[in-house]
Amino acid sequence: MIHPEPPAGRLAEIAAGLAGVERRIEEACRSAGRSRDELTLIAVTKTYPAADLRLLASLGVRDVGENRDQEAAAKAAECEDLPLTWHFIGQVQTNKARSVVAYADLIHGVDRERLVAALSREAVRQGREVGCLIQVALDDRPERGGARPADVPVLAAALAGAPGLRLRGVMAVAPLGADPGEAFGRLFDVAQAVQKEHPGADVISAGMSGDLAQAIAKGATHLRVGTALLGRRTPFVR
Ligand SMILES: *Cc1c(COP(=O)(O)O)cnc(C)c1O
Repeated sequence: MIHPEPPAGRLAEIAAGLAGVERRIEEACRSAGRSRDELTLIAVTKTYPAADLRLLASLGVRDVGENRDQEAAAKAAECEDLPLTWHFIGQVQTNKARSVVAYADLIHGVDRERLVAALSREAVRQGREVGCLIQVALDDRPERGGARPADVPVLAAALAGAPGLRLRGVMAVAPLGADPGEAFGRLFDVAQAVQKEHPGADVISAGMSGDLAQAIAKGATHLRVGTALLGRRTPFVR
């Protein structure tokens, strides 16, 4: 396959973004008394071309995140030769389970039992083991996705018992306009309760470009960073 050359200067641009994000992570770790090793940085590459994933990989990034199946599936195919771990961070429609299971290593948006059943069926059919995070709604707006904290224990039990799936932990987005530190504190409490029942489920996916320091302070293990690494997105590039 022929890979188009990225525009001159793009490597330097991404390298500068990465250095800036790493500086912010280091600083937040220092304030929180945590070690950088406890954190996985996921480069959120939605709307950016596969060429940018190649540049990220050349800079040592190993984790990438996408939120739309069609776009993610195409990029995963284009980047098959790269040593990347694929995170699906969007809402998963049940009828996309087959496609998402084929390339995703960790699915961050599991929020209902019907989806657990669909993903499990596909994982078994494809002979894959796929990690799953329960998306927790930190506000009362279920249309944005996520399970209510009260519903998490039942969903966690369903995931833990689902063939082909592995419950790895929880994920959330800080509600718009809310104090992210306070919201991530509540996520941490939910994560602790899940871990008590399921000791292997130790992932907390929280923190984006604007609130990664608050997420690190509240125990995040996985950060999902797009804009600060790659620049401001223009929708529908592809
Ligand atoms: C787009 C997206 C991100 C990255 O957001 P930035 O503000 O660009 O860092 C993180 N998490 C989810 C779920 C997203 O959809």
